[in-house]
Amino acid sequence: MKFTALHYVVAFIVIFSTIVFIVLFGRLPTFKGTIVGKAHILLWHKIPAKLLAIDKAVTGGRFYDATSSCGNYLINEKNWAVTTFYVTILTVALIFFFKDAWRYITNPIHRLLIPLLAFQPYFYLYLSAFTDPGIITLSNVSRMLDIFHYDDIIFYPDMPPCRTCHTPKPARSKHCSVCKHCIARMDHHCAWINNCVGYYNYRFFLGFVVSNLIVLTYGSYLTASVLYMEYMRQYFPGGYDSATKYFWADFRKWIKLIHSQNWTAAVSSLFMIATLVCPLVIAFLAQHIIFIHQGVTTNESEKWGEVEWVVNNGMLYVYENGDHYAENEAPETASGSGSESESGFARPRSAVAPSDKPKPENSGRRVYIHAYADAEMNRSVPRGMVQTEKVQDLDSICNIYDKGGFFKNWGEVFFPKYS
Ligand SMILES: [Zn+2]
Ligand SMILES: [Zn+2]
Repeated sequence: MKFTALHYVVAFIVIFSTIVFIVLFGRLPTFKGTIVGKAHILLWHKIPAKLLAIDKAVTGGRFYDATSSCGNYLINEKNWAVTTFYVTILTVALIFFFKDAWRYITNPIHRLLIPLLAFQPYFYLYLSAFTDPGIITLSNVSRMLDIFHYDDIIFYPDMPPCRTCHTPKPARSKHCSVCKHCIARMDHHCAWINNCVGYYNYRFFLGFVVSNLIVLTYGSYLTASVLYMEYMRQYFPGGYDSATKYFWADFRKWIKLIHSQNWTAAVSSLFMIATLVCPLVIAFLAQHIIFIHQGVTTNESEKWGEVEWVVNNGMLYVYENGDHYAENEAPETASGSGSESESGFARPRSAVAPSDKPKPENSGRRVYIHAYADAEMNRSVPRGMVQTEKVQDLDSICNIYDKGGFFKNWGEVFFPKYS
């Protein structure tokens, strides 16, 4: 059997996606003891350990030092490696498309649409990569505190300032260790765009994902159409007999067709790559649509996961202003480990509604504190607040960042406030 370029492409795709799957999901408890779990241990622990031992014997560990500092740089520092990889793949695929498939596309609408749509991912990549995602500085932090209110569950006013940026942490923000800045409405750091996805570039990032999805689905459709035309030309030059059902479903004919010429092999490869990557992008986009619907960021969805765990274990409590309950009751701490912070609630911008009448401190405020000492969201009890009830289920907690469904939350994503 002769190996053609197509065989190599298919082999590459299969091996690559298998390795990615094993590396990403092999550690999950579901796969413990299965072949996937064992392959994960082999790839992730055994092979690296062997290579390390060989390196130590041969070069005295120099190879490891070089690769680990290189890997460190790739993972922990801003760099264009993944973006370059993406741009190269997309550009090479487009070059092959225009070289091998373009001349078979005669419909003027497609001929107009194709260059237009093929250009979009580059455009949105540029916008996402070079737009400030919402870096928090001393000059804009008070504005960010005005825009994003604390919910007193996953973001609260007595969070200590960022140790690196030395700025207060507005609600919904997070420090990015790659960008080395705090980012407003931080979603996640994305290596594909070599930038954080935050308040000001989330919409461009969504544009980037959607434009890629369009290129992939449209590309799958066009390459399939071109191959189909060639199939008909080779096997049914006089048109097909309508009595012959499934005339197109002869697998052997397709295999023969793919191998028949260089261009059919190239167009088939494009078709396969596009259809294989498509589901991944659809899943990723669906995830973000759900997040917008729920009024959460990727970062917050993780925090809500933690809250859910604490609620399910019966360890989340509501604290309210002590004035409503007992006059001289001392504030309790949920875990017993947290002591009242000295600065208390001097910093403003809680979710308390403003009013003309002076109100006692923390009046009308509901604060959620849990008794799980090791978690990130553990905090001390604000002055004058007492424990009133245990949270029974996650649904009883209101997510104040959810304005009520996809289209209402849409506004915040697509029209961020600049002043
Ligand atoms: Zn920071
Ligand atoms: Zn970042």
